[in-house]
Amino acid sequence: MEAPCMNKLKQKEFTLASLTDLTSSSSSPVVATFSCVDEVTELRFQESESADSFSFDLSSAQLFKLGALQLVCVCDSSNSTKEFRDEKESKDFCDSFEEWTKDAVTKGSCLPNGTVSYSSSKFDNKIEAASAKMYFHYYGQLLHQQNMLQDYVRTGTYHAAVMENRSDFSGRVVVDVGAGSGILSMFAALAGAKHVYAVEASEMADYARKLIAGNPLLAERITVIKGKIEDVELPEKADVLISEPMGTLLVNERMLETYVIARDRFLSPNGKMFPTVGRIHMAPFADEFLFIEMANKALFWQQQNYYGVDLTPLYGSAHQGYFSQPVVDAFDPRLLVAPSMFHVIDFTKMKEEQFYEIDVPLKFTASVCTRVHGLACWFDVLFDGSTVQRWFTTAPGAPTTHWYQIRCVLLQPIHVMAGQEITGRLHLVAHSAQSYTINLTLSAKMSGPGANQGGILQTSSCKLDLKEPYYRMSQPQVYPVAQEPPAQAQDLQIQSDDLEEVELLQQNANAQL
Ligand code: SAH
Repeated sequence: MEAPCMNKLKQKEFTLASLTDLTSSSSSPVVATFSCVDEVTELRFQESESADSFSFDLSSAQLFKLGALQLVCVCDSSNSTKEFRDEKESKDFCDSFEEWTKDAVTKGSCLPNGTVSYSSSKFDNKIEAASAKMYFHYYGQLLHQQNMLQDYVRTGTYHAAVMENRSDFSGRVVVDVGAGSGILSMFAALAGAKHVYAVEASEMADYARKLIAGNPLLAERITVIKGKIEDVELPEKADVLISEPMGTLLVNERMLETYVIARDRFLSPNGKMFPTVGRIHMAPFADEFLFIEMANKALFWQQQNYYGVDLTPLYGSAHQGYFSQPVVDAFDPRLLVAPSMFHVIDFTKMKEEQFYEIDVPLKFTASVCTRVHGLACWFDVLFDGSTVQRWFTTAPGAPTTHWYQIRCVLLQPIHVMAGQEITGRLHLVAHSAQSYTINLTLSAKMSGPGANQGGILQTSSCKLDLKEPYYRMSQPQVYPVAQEPPAQAQDLQIQSDDLEEVELLQQNANAQL
């Protein structure tokens, strides 16, 4: 089916401070116009002082932000960098770009389940194709779905949250956002849902169909739709969304954006979301063992005679490289040196764009005199049912989940006294490989008489890539545990919905062979 060019949008013009394309650079103002010409949506640039102009076909164009005023537009083989006169104009341009690319439906192919595939999807525009391919390939495999199903803390909590809140599901239309094996769709159907739309982008959708068909009492009320939430169309609005979109540090994998897009596209006003709210918890920690372990990793590069070669030129880079990896493991909560604080993410209110940059000011009061090695983080989510409110937590000390906890280790620890204030900032910036760059700063300032004389302020910062964690669970745990919690069957399994984790475990396994 050929979809028409939906010429509903008003032609829009922007004046740029400058424009640079691959072949030329102009310092005179340039006017950018979004328009629809001969059923093709395009973005045209016209230099005000010459007849020169060129245009982008919006059906294949992407926009990247370089700074507050600078954007780069990429289309097939050409690209251009544009500089705006002020931030408002730059933002308006981005909004218009998004609106117009959405409308650039050149060939809406109709899939068997009625899905319209847009040539320029919201998902494809912001996520690198290579990352998405690997991501959906991973989730398309049964073994990885099994890993999640075997996290009994996770799956059991979802089951309880649905069954305890039957009245929210009974007779309702439900959308399962990223259905995977279809397990949550079947829980919803078991709780009496009128109909469940199970949307899954990976090849797992075919397995979900097979699994659901094998449960005939539920199957008649579940439709599996293979496609991305951002692209598929559903025949009716939903009363309830159910999803498991959480990654490490809550936001890894950037699936929460998909969850709120599903809300905006499919949920009726006053509809419910399971889960409803998420919280990122943070606290400074002291862990001399971990710090030394990380610092030691780079010692290899201090060899001056490695088969006659001096490796030391790369020591600094290797050292920094190890400290740019967030550490994922289950740690003893006694390593925390201040009461934790949290940052709330309300899935019912958060806008998709608000996930692009998450800024958390930090403030703690140290409970002990120690050396702080970094910031420990974990998350929890709330199922705000009409009958029961249930929290699911990944906190240290609570039953371990396949998310474990995450720690950002500072290159330079800071010294604190009991009662001293620790301030700082956790700044998360989303990137196109479905993860985040983490910028962390922690500071401690002496207070009391005499503090001003020496200007005693210690500050330590680090930059980490959430996509490249150091999975430390396979390392022996040196921390004494006062009361050993009962061993759980799930601890015996390899559990992960993170690509890197399983890759690492596989590498370890290979290394051991
Ligand atoms: N709901 C299942 C699977 C959770 S894992 C369970 O709880 O066991 C997340 C799933 O969402 C994966 O199977 C992944 O392929 C799917 N997914 C991620 N982003 C998606 C998107 N944009 N559209 C549709 N499915 C998506």
